[in-house]
Amino acid sequence: MVDRGLVIVGAGEAGVRAAFALREQGYQGSVTLIGEEPHLPYERPPLSKVGSHSDTGRAIVAEERFAGAGITFRRGLRALQLKPSEHRLELEGGENLLYDRLLLATGATPRQLPGLPPNERIHVLRTVEHAGSIRRCMGPGRHVAILGGGFIGLELAAMGRSLGVEVTLVEVQPRVLMRGVPEKLALALQARHAAEGVTLICGVPINAIEAGERAVSLAFADGKSIEADALVVGIGSQPNTALADAAGLFLENGISVDAYLRTSDPDIFAAGDCCSFPLSVYGGRRVRLESWRNAQDQEPRPPPICSVVKRRLSPSPGFGQISMT
Ligand SMILES: Cc1cc2nc3c(=O)[nH]c(=O)nc-3n(C[C@H](O)[C@H](O)[C@H](O)COP(=O)(O)OP(=O)(O)OC[C@H]3O[C@@H](n4cnc5c(N)ncnc54)[C@H](O)[C@@H]3O)c2cc1C
Repeated sequence: MVDRGLVIVGAGEAGVRAAFALREQGYQGSVTLIGEEPHLPYERPPLSKVGSHSDTGRAIVAEERFAGAGITFRRGLRALQLKPSEHRLELEGGENLLYDRLLLATGATPRQLPGLPPNERIHVLRTVEHAGSIRRCMGPGRHVAILGGGFIGLELAAMGRSLGVEVTLVEVQPRVLMRGVPEKLALALQARHAAEGVTLICGVPINAIEAGERAVSLAFADGKSIEADALVVGIGSQPNTALADAAGLFLENGISVDAYLRTSDPDIFAAGDCCSFPLSVYGGRRVRLESWRNAQDQEPRPPPICSVVKRRLSPSPGFGQISMT
């Protein structure tokens, strides 16, 4: 039998950890990791944390470790199409890879504001390039508005204040961290941000957002408005499911997998932010965890010792977002 090995699409936290976990567990077949970003895989959490900015991102592993572990890492290359019936993955440039088993670790994409055309004053945060653009807006005397009082919005607000920026954080819900954080704790964090000089506008609907050459303006339903030099939109993210969807895999709030991370195709698995799975501590309810710890802990087991992906999920989702169906 020809070993076509395991192909991993997505060189983020889940994809990289899975590749190394396979080797640690004794998998002898070939492992190919495909990542569309041009960089060495990097950690995303530091992108929004005070004092941890880096233009290239903090590497998940040193480059030489890929060769040392016998992992073929190919960067700056997008997977375009998946043909499960042929066990074939088509890459940018027309190259085709055959696989025995495939892991989709394609992550997520920040949600954009519907109807708002792209503008250089409007930002989202997922990549090291996004972080660089946001960072360039942040300097003493600048005013940055942040839309979304989730973890990323609050962290960016803290970063802005640490850099001398005037920060207005806008949350349309009555308080910050409505998803998954108890009210008492959320209000304490909100008060701490206010004490550090963040202006918080919570619970007021937004009537209009306009981005011009000189500023971004937000008009609220109570008749008030603000103008800022830049707007960062931090309103959650959507799982990257395009490959899986076009391949006919079952989707449900992300790529739907079972407790062993198997998709609806027996030879295709999914892990990390792109998939939803039944979580036993929630009574088997399907969740999608946008969490660094989860992306690390979801790891595949090498065939044929165990031909399925085994999930070792931390009971505490940690700092990430939980999205349930
Ligand atoms: C700014 C920020 C701060 C965060 N802070 C925290 C935190 O403090 N704590 C916490 O628990 N979590 C945090 N998270 C969430 C955490 O980083 C994610 O849960 C984790 O990165 C998910 O890993 P992943 O591998 O599933 O996805 P990703 O890290 O997004 O990796 C997916 C990779 O797949 C690539 N890809 C997608 N499609 C293709 C394709 N067709 N071909 C090739 N490559 C493809 C993408 O470009 C990307 O590089 C943060 C996230 C962000 C953005």
